[in-house]
Amino acid sequence: METTQIRLARRPEGEPDDTTFATATETLPDLEDGQVALAIRYLSLDPYMRGRLSTAKSYADPVEIGQVMVGATVGEVVESRHDGLEVGDHVLSYSGWQSAAVVDGRHVRKLDPSVAPVTTALGVLGMPGFTAYAGLLEIGRPQEGETVVVAAATGPVGSAVGQVAQIKGARAVGIAGGPAKVRALTEEFGFDAALDHRDPDFAAQLAAATPDGVDVYFENVGGAVFDVVRRRLNTYARIPVCGLVANYNATGQPEGPDRMPGLMGQVLTQSLTVRGFIQSEFTASHGRDFARDMGEWVASGRVRYREDVVDGLENAPAAFAGMLRGENFGKLVVRVGG
Ligand code: NDP
Repeated sequence: METTQIRLARRPEGEPDDTTFATATETLPDLEDGQVALAIRYLSLDPYMRGRLSTAKSYADPVEIGQVMVGATVGEVVESRHDGLEVGDHVLSYSGWQSAAVVDGRHVRKLDPSVAPVTTALGVLGMPGFTAYAGLLEIGRPQEGETVVVAAATGPVGSAVGQVAQIKGARAVGIAGGPAKVRALTEEFGFDAALDHRDPDFAAQLAAATPDGVDVYFENVGGAVFDVVRRRLNTYARIPVCGLVANYNATGQPEGPDRMPGLMGQVLTQSLTVRGFIQSEFTASHGRDFARDMGEWVASGRVRYREDVVDGLENAPAAFAGMLRGENFGKLVVRVGG
């Protein structure tokens, strides 16, 4: 069995481009006891992958040059030597950017397509949905009547943050790029208000949309958006720092004055809680509750999700680069071959 692989060819300076990745074909080994062979059906593309292209110090090791690019996948079992997994089963695994893989059956999670579409294991019912749930409830702690603001709000993390905040009785204000995404926030996801961060009038719009200030800012993007939102924060506001996607392709410090003293002064005088997290730290404490709650909310339609499916493994590099520019509209997934 052969696998087509996308490997890291060169570490990008700034945006990933045509020279960042290279394609190769490899023959997979024969199965050993306990292993399964997978035909990969879907590959998840996520912002954290930009960090894996860099050798900068991080919470996870970088991908090495020549190594298959990492990523979560949904695969179909095509051969099995693992008790409990049969040909035709769909499983969640971490097989990376390739069309087939041989993996240890203990390292995969069997999916039930009758419960939810298998792609949801990469989005709302998977890592991004969990990130939203655990980060919001554990750090943001939204209370009845409070205002929760989130950017990248049509993505899998942001869309879940807003909807879970509403389930907890808070008002959800979403920020996104462009009119179509902004419309989807209120019409599709049911946010209470929605704004375009590219609009020159963004700061005034945010002030109008948050008349009682901001109690929770779920930080997904950083950059210019944070600079505007922080002026609306209330005393005792909580800021789960989940991601800073606006900076991921940055090659140096941003221009302009040093904002750190002002920000730290604000943290002090407004008693702000600013707490970064990597979702995996909450697996043990929140994993079960997430599976139960989000499973119910998605099944009942209380939490809606949107997927952006790109066809063909060969299109993964361009789709990935596009996501970092905001070109995806919903959870970005690549459909890999037949
Ligand atoms: P998305 O699908 O939302 O994709 C990223 C989005 O970021 C883009 O679509 C774009 O949306 C927005 N964006 C890009 N550049 C900018 C910018 N300069 N200013 C404002 N918005 C920008 O991604 P996810 O939902 O998968 O992830 C959201 C965030 O959560 C990321 O920062 C990610 O790294 C982080 N994350 C963190 C985890 C953790 O454990 N801490 C785990 C998972 C995700 P738009 O067009 O609307 O601006």
